[in-house]
Amino acid sequence: MKPMIGITASFDDTYIINDQNYANSLEKAGAIPVILPPLHDLSRVDAVLARLDGLILSGGQDISPFRYDQDPHPNCASYSDLRDAYEIALYNKARQLELPILAICRGMQLVNVIHGGTLVQDIVSQRPDSLEHAKPDVTATAHRITIESGSVMEQIMGGSAVVNSLHHQAIDQPGEGLKVTARAGDDMIEALEADNLIAVQFHPERLFSQPAFLRFFEELVRRAK
Ligand code: MN
Repeated sequence: MKPMIGITASFDDTYIINDQNYANSLEKAGAIPVILPPLHDLSRVDAVLARLDGLILSGGQDISPFRYDQDPHPNCASYSDLRDAYEIALYNKARQLELPILAICRGMQLVNVIHGGTLVQDIVSQRPDSLEHAKPDVTATAHRITIESGSVMEQIMGGSAVVNSLHHQAIDQPGEGLKVTARAGDDMIEALEADNLIAVQFHPERLFSQPAFLRFFEELVRRAK
């Protein structure tokens, strides 16, 4: 049977609005994708994950800075306590169950915060000397990353790669138990790893027609079997 992999949802006041590329990438990699709208009742997380073989924490809005003990920077965008709370509960339970997880963009930042790390709330104002990380065209490559040898990232992409970049926030202090496995030329953290977890700051789902980016989803599917 093809593994069933959950994708966390973005939403506004009325609609679930997910980038279809997450589902398309998973389908191409051999999985059945399902969208996971946030639940208010966190006790249902067990029942959700009991039906899943793997999890994607997708991109989306900022995370509440109060979750890493900071006050909001003026350029910190809107955040959802509902989404944060649901995804934190999902992640913690999925880790307990040793489900494979792929965390993308916001997903990586959320994982970092759950592990006690912090974020740069706005790269342009707080790290003015950094590269441009908020490229509006996410289908175009934006900057190079250098990858740690011996990492899963290296198995997937090799020692270095050119990736897309659509993030105005970034990892500041990495959380406990997370290994930094890729950095941009300005030293920005672009990937984190732990057992059963691959986390990337860029968007492989938007470039899944290229084998190196599709491999993130193939690896997740392989682990989910
Ligand atoms: Mn970047």
